[in-house]
Amino acid sequence: MKPLNVVIVGAGGRMGKTLIEAVLDQPQAFRLHAALDRPESPEQGRDAGALLGHDTGVAITHDVEAALADADVLIDFTRPEATLDYLQTCAARGVNMVIGTTGFDAEGKRAITAAAQRIGIVFAPNFSVGVNLTFKLLDIAARVLSQGYDIEIVEAHHRHKVDAPSGTALAMGEVVAQALDRDLDACAVYGREGTTGARDPSTIGFATVRGGDIVGDHTVLFAGTGERVEITHKASSRATFALGALRAAGWLAQHKQGLFNMQDVLDLH
Ligand code: NAD
Repeated sequence: MKPLNVVIVGAGGRMGKTLIEAVLDQPQAFRLHAALDRPESPEQGRDAGALLGHDTGVAITHDVEAALADADVLIDFTRPEATLDYLQTCAARGVNMVIGTTGFDAEGKRAITAAAQRIGIVFAPNFSVGVNLTFKLLDIAARVLSQGYDIEIVEAHHRHKVDAPSGTALAMGEVVAQALDRDLDACAVYGREGTTGARDPSTIGFATVRGGDIVGDHTVLFAGTGERVEITHKASSRATFALGALRAAGWLAQHKQGLFNMQDVLDLH
């Protein structure tokens, strides 16, 4: 099969560079068709592979219209306002999108849903294949261990992370709470200190560790009488998100319209 023509936007960003590297690593499946970033980006005009030591012959530009000619899919890990601009152009031109950007408000999410009537979109807050599989494993574990097991979620990230618990830890909590028919807002306990009293069995506890360059570790602990089950995911580089996004791009080639997530891509429903 012919390689897919891929447009990477936010090409000078952390995820953009990781995506370009992943595309160049799989020449039989993907071809770097164009690389875009905002006009003020210092990367404008540079070869898209320069930072990786590759000469791709594709310069970073901000010419969206030219980039979309003959493109099969646009992969976007940028900022919500940028994504919503690309979304309009892709919908008008019939180019599918893989959206990894986070932080959309309700209006932004509605715009994505509306555009998916015209093009195929995979939109996911976490493109790691392992994390998405972990969600499925947690759903099974929570249903089987619904009685007599205390559930605690422990996550660790690098020293620069500014929010806690991580979005992925919260998403894991949501999966467990839904499987147990509990409301996460009502049953979550975020950290403990002092005289806490005995553990309320209906709660889901969260604990956070911050330090060094930890990319992202998550463990969900089901602690029962006489045994513990721990389901752990550890990310060691951003490459996991890029590889998941490319897997989504390949899967999307068979879908001309509709809004999908990684559970669809991985057939985990
Ligand atoms: P970054 O700041 O390193 O890169 C962002 C890029 O977007 C930059 O190149 C920047 O120039 C570009 N950009 C910003 N505003 C723009 C605009 N208006 N028009 C065009 N380009 C614009 O950020 P990052 O760490 O690469 O993360 C990017 C996004 O991806 C964030 O929203 C992050 O939360 C998300 N992310 C998602 C996943 C996932 O699995 N879904 C994984 C990692 C990061």
